[in-house]
Amino acid sequence: MQVNDVVAYIQADRDRFLADLKEWLAIPSISGDPAHADDVRTSAGWLAEYLRGQGFPTVEVWETPGLPAVFAEWPAEDPGAPSVVVYGHHDVQPVEPLEEWETEPFKPLEKGDRLIGRGASDDKGQVFFHTLGIRAGLAASGRQAPPVTIKLLVEGEEESGSAHFAELLRTHRDRLACDAVVISDTTMWSADVPSMCTGMRGLAEAEVTLRGPESDLHSGSFGGAVPNPLHAMASLLAALHDDDGRVTLPGFYDDVVPLTDEERELFARLPFDEAEWLRTAGNSRAAHGEKGYTTLERVWARPTAEINGMWGGHTGPGGKTIVPREAHAKISFRLAAGQDPRKVQEQFREWVAERTPAGVEAEVRTPHGGVRPCFSPIDSPGVKAARRAMERAFGTDVLFTREGGSGPEADLADILDAPLVFVAVGLDGDRIHAPNEKVEIPLLLKGAEAAAYLWEELATALR
Ligand SMILES: [Zn+2]
Repeated sequence: MQVNDVVAYIQADRDRFLADLKEWLAIPSISGDPAHADDVRTSAGWLAEYLRGQGFPTVEVWETPGLPAVFAEWPAEDPGAPSVVVYGHHDVQPVEPLEEWETEPFKPLEKGDRLIGRGASDDKGQVFFHTLGIRAGLAASGRQAPPVTIKLLVEGEEESGSAHFAELLRTHRDRLACDAVVISDTTMWSADVPSMCTGMRGLAEAEVTLRGPESDLHSGSFGGAVPNPLHAMASLLAALHDDDGRVTLPGFYDDVVPLTDEERELFARLPFDEAEWLRTAGNSRAAHGEKGYTTLERVWARPTAEINGMWGGHTGPGGKTIVPREAHAKISFRLAAGQDPRKVQEQFREWVAERTPAGVEAEVRTPHGGVRPCFSPIDSPGVKAARRAMERAFGTDVLFTREGGSGPEADLADILDAPLVFVAVGLDGDRIHAPNEKVEIPLLLKGAEAAAYLWEELATALR
């Protein structure tokens, strides 16, 4: 396949591609608002119809107890070729406040190189570049079918927490069997510095209650002679980190996949401005965290413990001289590659039990099972193949990032038992979830170009 043919096809197809995308963006598929449930269904139906028109031999709308996903499969010419699931979502975030938009959120507006509208970047635009990539790849190669079996899975509940997604994956596990999962729902470092995400941190949460006397006590009559639950909570939480900013739970770091020298070197090549970053961090006055790691390494590849809230005793106006009966705190852990949320919750439970002083009773509640981290090593075959495809499209070195937060990606990796490969062209400046969400049209077209090369690269790498 000649680069020139792919590029020429994409250029020639640009206007039709954008016109079709605008039609889809006009459907207000807000999954978090029950009033828009029918619109999410309409969006699924629109996409299914569109994919049929693109030549996908199998297209199905998959119902869930909530909102539907779309599945489309295009088998490879060669029955022995690898299979790849492509994941994205067709639902979008709410649009308020409306008065801050320069166009109506569901009347997409092309303005110079930008396409403005809800879903332009997150995630309809990024799902859509794959359709153009497939067309361009087929046209340029003269093939009738792609070099790998492509299984497109476009979820309808991502923006409302993917409540039924894991179940959907389990139900259709056989149909979704694959050698890799391509995720197109993340961002690049910048328009000038193309990059690929290689992982996302997981999450474990806990709530601690410490109970002392049966009621609040007069601190003159009893203070100093019985345990105070708030004192116990303060010493407990103060002991959660050591002087090097490391979390003190025994075994906490045992499963963490360490950063490789190569990955640290590639992170260091990103043009990161810490002062600017601190401004985006609510004008934080200083960077702070685990000793021996840079800020990017801390937010992407290292686990953390945060106290999210603590309360108890008298917090109203004026004084109230008591020994309080209870103390409360909410804690969350961001988990790095390799860690298991349930194991961390267990480590925390044991740690609290061991440190609770006599006369105080501890209760640790873990509201849900947490979110597993996901990670693909930069030297894994799928990541290397996707990087080559990106580098062919962008004509420059592609660097690596990770994301500090979490989505349904770990479910894809765990349930489908396949490595993740992140290919996306969104930018942090795309104002996703905010007014005036936009996508850079040239990047969307680069995404289509990378997607056109991706299938032949993966066909070789995963065989
Ligand atoms: Zn998204």
